[in-house]
This record gives sequence, structure tokens and C-alpha cells, in this order.
Amino acid sequence: MSQIRPLIAGNWKMNGQRASLHEIEALRKGVAEAGAALAVDIMVCPPATLIAAAAAAVEGSPILIGAQDCHAKASGAYTGDISAPMLADSGAKAVILGHSERRSLHGERDVDVRAKADAVLAAGLQAIICVGETAGEWRLGLTLDVVGRQLSGSLPQGATGANIVIAYEPIWAIGTGLTPTVADVSEVHRMIREKLGSILSPAIAEQIRILYGGSVKPDNTTELLTIPDVDGALVGGASLLARDFLAIISAQSSSAA
Ligand code: PEP
Repeated sequence: MSQIRPLIAGNWKMNGQRASLHEIEALRKGVAEAGAALAVDIMVCPPATLIAAAAAAVEGSPILIGAQDCHAKASGAYTGDISAPMLADSGAKAVILGHSERRSLHGERDVDVRAKADAVLAAGLQAIICVGETAGEWRLGLTLDVVGRQLSGSLPQGATGANIVIAYEPIWAIGTGLTPTVADVSEVHRMIREKLGSILSPAIAEQIRILYGGSVKPDNTTELLTIPDVDGALVGGASLLARDFLAIISAQSSSAA
């Protein structure tokens, strides 16, 4: 693990209605009880319909609310889409971009992710840019090539440690209960840091958080998140219940201490 303050971000995907806000309230209570012992930044990315209510529910607490996608334009005739300034206006502080489900189900390419990331930065939000290989690419030993290409193709102009986060999510590990080995995660994260260094600068690369995502659970958090160059986690399924998410946050905090 590097010296950067870790981030644990929860991606609720297309789950949750107003009744689910009690999970955010329970998270807030658990975070308040743990107090300064939690040496991590905490974010929940609910569906867009819940962003404003979730932001109101965490007001005054250290918990941040993020979004899961946005349009690359700030406004216009794009029926059904939501722009980065709209998300900022709703209380979001960050936007997940290029999640593998967006890339595979909505055909998003690196160039689209980059355009959205530019829009997110222009709106004063943080872009959480996801990269990761398929099972087939992993089996063929193409992981470093694929992830490196996605990274350089998706980075916005003016990326810094304050305005972007990278999430390495092997697609075959998302929602499957499978995880890469410690050595594999370490190799990919080191490559990401080096590539960020060559594209931006080594000093900026040292400040950018590189999250691991894919079947992070309370019982594997310590192993995965103490790997060098892993600066936190993007958590899907296990972020839906405050109890599980708090267990991941606590495990990360105690290994960071
Ligand atoms: C995700 O979808 O970003 C994710 C990491 O999901 P899960 O934790 O459920 O594998």
C-alpha cells in the first residue's frame, strides 16, 4: 500500500430505491461511531435517482456521494441522459466512468470515457476511471497490454491526484467471487502507476489513487488492499449493505494504520 489516503467507494449499480437510504443512514452511524479510527475516504455511488437524497443523508459526515456515469456534454437534446453539472448540482462529488458494464453493455470506448472524464473535470468533480481485462484476455496473457491501452486512451486532459482515481477491475472478477492473485494485482497496479508517470509525471502519478475492484468482501479486504500500489477499493455487491461495507472500511482502516 502506498502513502496515499485510501478510498473505499461503493458502486450500487442499478440497485436501490428510497427505502435503501436507511443503508446510507446506517453507514453514517457506523462511520460516526468509528470516528477518527477510520483513516480512509468513503464514497457511495447510488443510482442517479437517489443521489440528491443520499447527499442530504450524509451532509455533515465525511461520506461522499458519487454517480455511476454521465453524458459527455453539459446540456442539450440528449433524452434520458444526465450531465456532469447536473450530477454536481444533485450533490455528487465524483463519477464512475468506463465501468466494464458500460463498456460491454453500452459499447463505450476509451475515447467516450475520455470525453466523459473531460466533462467530469470541467464540472469540478472527480473521475473514477475503470479499466480491466476480460477473462479471455487474461487467459491469453494480454492483461498489461489491454489495461495499459485503456488507461492511456481514457485519461482526461489535466489529470491530477485530486481530480482522478483509477479503478483496476478485472472483468472476470466482478460479481463472480473470483479474485486475481496478490502477485497479479501487484503487477497490474505497478504498471498503471508507471504508465501514469510516463503520461503525466512521476510526481502526479504518486498522488493518484489506484483502486482494486472485483469481488472485494470483508474477508479478503486485508489481503487485497495491503498490496503495494493498491490505494483502496471499488466495491459492488458488498457495498449494498452498510454492515458489509463498514466491515470492508474497518478492515482497510486497520491495515492502513
Ligand atoms: C463493480 O461492479 O465495480 C464490482 C467491483 O462489483 P463486485 O464487488 O460485486 O465484484
